[in-house]
Amino acid sequence: MRIVAIHERTIPLAMAARNASIGFAGMTASALAVHTDARRNGKPLIGLAFDSIGRYGHGGLLRERFIPRLLAAAPDAYDDGNGGIDPRRAWTVAMMDEKPGGHGERSGAVGLIDAALWDLAAKSSDQPLWKRLAPDREDAAIEVYASGGHYRASHDVEALRDEIRRAMAAGHRRFKIKIGGAALADDRRRTEAVLAALEPGMTLAVDGNGTFDRATALHYAEALSGYPLAWLEEPVPPLDFELHREIAEQSAVPIATGENLFSADDARNLLRYGGLRRDRDFLQFDISLSYGIVEYERILECLEAFGWRRERCAPHAGHLFAMQAVAGLELGLAETTTDAQGLFGAVTSGVAVLDGRARLPDAAGTGFEASPVYRQIFDGLVN
Ligand code: MG
Repeated sequence: MRIVAIHERTIPLAMAARNASIGFAGMTASALAVHTDARRNGKPLIGLAFDSIGRYGHGGLLRERFIPRLLAAAPDAYDDGNGGIDPRRAWTVAMMDEKPGGHGERSGAVGLIDAALWDLAAKSSDQPLWKRLAPDREDAAIEVYASGGHYRASHDVEALRDEIRRAMAAGHRRFKIKIGGAALADDRRRTEAVLAALEPGMTLAVDGNGTFDRATALHYAEALSGYPLAWLEEPVPPLDFELHREIAEQSAVPIATGENLFSADDARNLLRYGGLRRDRDFLQFDISLSYGIVEYERILECLEAFGWRRERCAPHAGHLFAMQAVAGLELGLAETTTDAQGLFGAVTSGVAVLDGRARLPDAAGTGFEASPVYRQIFDGLVN
């Protein structure tokens, strides 16, 4: 099979939401389609990918480096031995002449290509992606949590409560809201409002988006220790491993972090120096932004070397590709966004959730074609 064209475009995600770190009004994401010379079920075989959220589109890097390398390669360079495309070999082609370290933004660009190639591989074998990754697995249901709770300019607490109630009505049992974008007293009010709305067995996590300095992080950890929180997410800047260690030493609250580390190198440093606890903390490396599944498999090897179970992994990003990977790589928990109005949230709005578990689509590949916003994202890229 030969890759004959790769089309990409940048899509505005324009959301009014804000967390402690950034606003999403100017947020963008990339969509990408890998065209091949093969056909399946009477149609051209095309691999699709849609970005994770939070790091903007990757068009420049894709157009200048990664797409040209794949288009210039002979099919022998990525052939899987059965006439298909091996995502791992194609990944190596895309990363040709890239120096180690300094992962920066390229990891998101390569992650998109990786995602499209896995979509292609799963479609080639007429399987959903999770089944392609885990042939022995029978069950397409995964544990999920509803992620949202951003700050609003007006009626913030009422809107927050409504959002949680909607997520509960949609079948969720685990929730996450933002902290650190307001004064501690306001964050306490928001946290208490959500906790009061939860039914027995439901849980709440809070996300500081990596903005607290040492004193504030310790103050928040202490102030929040009285609440039954599932985790405190990114309490400190994502690359300050020593400070993670200090927070973990001083607070019993579970910590979740890793969504802004984009490689096995970074994951290793976090596990080596961050003082995280294997019995309670969560690792949130974003699969798509971390060079995709090929690199994530290296991250999982790294976890194993440090004695971590993959059930502690709760990858960042509420998108279909991550959900497929959670099932296919036997990870613990997937994020889903509560914002079904926005384009990013709409992608997964058709995935049914029951009792905190999502059932992945049966369709071959990642499942974009069944998404209600498929045309909006991929029109112009697939035809
Ligand atoms: Mg987060």
